[in-house]
Amino acid sequence: MVKAERVCKSFGHVEVLKGIDLEVRTGEVFCIVGPSGSGKSTFLRCINHLEKINAGRLYVDGTLVGYREKGGKLYELRDREVAAQRRDIGMVFQRFNLFPHMTAVENVMEAPVQVKRVPRAEARKRAEELLDRVGLADKRDNYPAQLSGGQQQRVAIARALAMDPKLMLFDEPTSALDPELVGEVLDVMKALARDGMTMVVVTHEMGFAREVGDSLVFMDGGVVVESGNPREVLTSPRHERTKSFLSKVL
Ligand code: ATP
Ligand code: MG
Repeated sequence: MVKAERVCKSFGHVEVLKGIDLEVRTGEVFCIVGPSGSGKSTFLRCINHLEKINAGRLYVDGTLVGYREKGGKLYELRDREVAAQRRDIGMVFQRFNLFPHMTAVENVMEAPVQVKRVPRAEARKRAEELLDRVGLADKRDNYPAQLSGGQQQRVAIARALAMDPKLMLFDEPTSALDPELVGEVLDVMKALARDGMTMVVVTHEMGFAREVGDSLVFMDGGVVVESGNPREVLTSPRHERTKSFLSKVL
């Protein structure tokens, strides 16, 4: 579903991604862990072309992200084409970024109505189903300010799902939450994984990675240091850098 080949990304002179190689298979939960500043968010943002890569190749579902290749050369896609690629990718951030002036159900139906031109009644019905799925059937008419952090994050997940993505990206979706609210968001993510959604999850929740993850990579300094089955990497890391990181977070 996602294939990265020697992906590099610099900001000015600062090289943040130094040749990332990885492959996310369809239907798997792919976890990315690593210290602050290692390039995890940057890599996630490259997947939906919020950042342009400087070298290498990045594919989603077999299609080059942000570029078209012709005669061995890369040409940038037009904004409209990039938007079309992004439409199939849901993203959930650390901060929930809900529209504050809209209720939960309005937040969830907004993109289908505006972007896909789904009729409002139909979009509302689907939004209500999605809110039901994330356990918020009774909160559909609440504004974000009237919801807890965990509830807001579940609305954000429902909102991403409303576009029927083939891939979901999560960037530390629980790290801004009070500890007692983390579980309800992870439970929604677990259910999504059981339903077969392909998910790339940047997380500090090693329990989630071990329990739900199919693959895990440890990133440090813009490279993948170690990768494999989450249980194996987390219990018997092979590299010193992985060991040292895990000893601090586990
Ligand atoms: P964290 O765990 O703290 O979220 P991260 O692994 O997600 O860290 P990134 O946010 O990808 O790390 O950042 C990697 C490096 O790239 C950092 O040194 C950061 O300062 C730098 N960086 C990220 N975005 C930009 C930008 N837009 N301009 C310049 N530098 C940036
Ligand atoms: Mg980050």
